[in-house]
Order: sequence, then C-alpha cells, then structure tokens
Amino acid sequence: MKWRVPLADVTIGEDEIIAVEDVLRSGWLSMGKITEDFERAFADYLGVRYAFAVANGTVALHLAYAALDIGPGNEVILPSLTFVATANAVLYTDAVPIFADIKSLDDLTISAEKIEPLITSRTKAIVVMHYGGYLCDMELIIELARKYDLAVVEDAAHAPGATYRGMEAGTLGDVGCFSFFANKNMTTGEGGMVVTNREDLAEKIRLMRSHGMTTLTWDRHRGHAFSYDVALLGYNYRIDEMRSALGLVQLKKLEMNNRRREEITRIYRRELADCPGIRLPFNEHRRGSTYHLFPIILDEMVERRKFMEYMRSLGIQTSIHYPPVHLFDYYRRRFGYGKGMLPLTEMVGRREVTLPLYPSMSDEQAALVVNSVRSFWKANLL
Ligand SMILES: *Cc1c(COP(=O)(O)O)cnc(C)c1O
Repeated sequence: MKWRVPLADVTIGEDEIIAVEDVLRSGWLSMGKITEDFERAFADYLGVRYAFAVANGTVALHLAYAALDIGPGNEVILPSLTFVATANAVLYTDAVPIFADIKSLDDLTISAEKIEPLITSRTKAIVVMHYGGYLCDMELIIELARKYDLAVVEDAAHAPGATYRGMEAGTLGDVGCFSFFANKNMTTGEGGMVVTNREDLAEKIRLMRSHGMTTLTWDRHRGHAFSYDVALLGYNYRIDEMRSALGLVQLKKLEMNNRRREEITRIYRRELADCPGIRLPFNEHRRGSTYHLFPIILDEMVERRKFMEYMRSLGIQTSIHYPPVHLFDYYRRRFGYGKGMLPLTEMVGRREVTLPLYPSMSDEQAALVVNSVRSFWKANLL
C-alpha cells in the first residue's frame, strides 16, 4: 500500500550511506573501533558513565534484567501498556511479570500509586516505559524503589534525548535500555543500547553481551590478548560496525529530528484541541519529550476500526499503542491474567489510535492528517 502519510519513516541521508560504505571497505565488520566510538558518543550525549551497544532493544532489556540478577522466584513490576518485549525479556529470566496500571487517560505512563500495593518480598525491580517519549513520574518511582530496596530499569526505547529536570531519560534508574529499530527516533535498522552509571552492572553487561568472555576478538586482533576465560553465562548480543556507523550519524541528527517531531506535535495539538470526540493525552505535559508517538483516545461511542479504515481510505496510516500485554493469549494462559485487571490500560487498549509522526513529515501532510480526523468526526455526527 502506498500511503500519502505513513505512520513513520526513516530519515537516511548520503552521510549514513557513506559511513556504512566506509566500514564495508575497511575490512573490519564485527564489533570494534566504530562501536566503541558509538558507545562513547552515546554515553557522552546522555551524560552517563557506561554505554553498551547491542543487537536490539529486546536484548538490551534482557541484559539489564540479567545484570540485576533477576531470576526464578523474583517478581518484576512493569506496565502492560508497552511493547511486548518489555515483558518478554522478564520471562527470559524466569521471573514473573506483575503488571501495574497507568496514571490516567491523560498520562499513559505507569502509576507509582498503583505500583506500591503490588510490591512483595519477591519483588526485585520496577520497570518503567517512557510512553511516546513522555517521561514517567521518576521522582515518585525512584523514591518508592529506595523505600523497598528495588532496582529501577528504564525502557527508554521511545526516549533517546528526553529530559527530566535536566537529567536524561535512561540515566535516572539503575539501567536504561534503548532501541534503534527503524521506527524509533534514531535507527540502525536493528540495534540497541544499555546504559548505566553503576560500575558493577557495567562489568556484567560487558561480559554477558559476548558469551561471558573476558576478551573480545577485537582485543585479540589488536594484539591485546591471546586467549580468554568465560566468567559467567553470556550471550551473543553484539551489534556490528555497519550498524554502529549508522548509529553515529543518526545520533548527530537526533536533536534536530526530535525538534521537528515537536513542531508536528504542536501543530496536532493546536489543530485538534477543539476537535470533538477525541482526547489528546500528555496535553499538559511539561517539555522535554522526544515526541516519539502522537496518541489520541477516541470517544467511547466511536468504533475504532471504522476510524482507522476511514483514515486508511484517505491514504493515512494509523496504529495502536498498545494492545495490553496482560491480555495476550500467551500471558493469559501462563499467568491466568485477564480482563478487568487494569481498567485504564484496557480502556486505552480499546480506544487509542496513533497518528503519523516522523521528522520528514511536511506541514501539508500534518494538515492532511488533521483535516481527515476532523472530517471523520463531522461525517459521524451528521
Ligand atoms: C521497540 C521497543 C522495544 C524493543 O526494541 P527492539 O529493538 O525492536 O527489540 C522495547 N520496548 C519498547 C517500548 C519499544 O518501543
């Protein structure tokens, strides 16, 4: 299908192409110097001590959980209104995911108030997800984590460059995880990053990313080592030099691209403010978002499918963020979760629609989206 306005789009220029081509010509493709440069640049950008580039955002989360020794017998509290990977990675560790509801229809992030009653002696960590690039209530959540001696993991897949009182998303908890999938604010095709300020966790993440091995092929190539030991059970979660080269260029464009996302978000908020039948979450949100998504909540009376089909008929792609994780068949069967557990999450799961948002979107495309939303409503009220 050829969309007039797709949901998302990548912004790849000649500089990305040249950077990848240079790597291909260099003769060193597996993790090495370019990845070290990418990690340093990302860490410096966030103002964090350690950054480890990995194969994707899902394994970034798995490494974070594993480094925190989350395992069998542990519980992890997390939102259900997230991409399934946030929870699947908990299952990789054999811990039990305990889902907490969101704050409200105006703030779709996890509620600190609803986390507290879920804490037990088995709870090991709280995972937050900065929905759409809008930061969670990190002060309340970190305070809660301190009170009960829990770790905090940030799923910051939507939030590279998001700030909270001058601090960067991903650096507020114990470990932060990013994704560079093609529809994220910066991309390497597939890729991710784990960041932390804790030296103990950094050492484990470094080892676990590459089989638990004490030296890398790269170290041996440079003559820094001849052999290796295996210190703990690790994985092959490495990124490669082509992706790191892409990431370095994309990181340079991140601020500019996030600003353009902000502009389009402003247009949407201004032009849809008085549109009947929809709510605009995060309307009152403080600045500092990365504007990864533009979610709207449809009135109860509207059939979402009808709305999305109408938009599609006009060449506009929309999406849903998210079908709640606790209602997926696998989660219901394995944990006995079901409807009614998380009323607000479930309401958003039924009524949310995500409008197109990406940096290369033109003002005309934004106007087309706005006019289409408004015209649906007119047609429907008649
Ligand atoms: C994209 C995403 C992930 C997973 O990232 P991948 O790189 O696709 O593995 C995890 N959590 C959230 C919230 C995401 O949006």
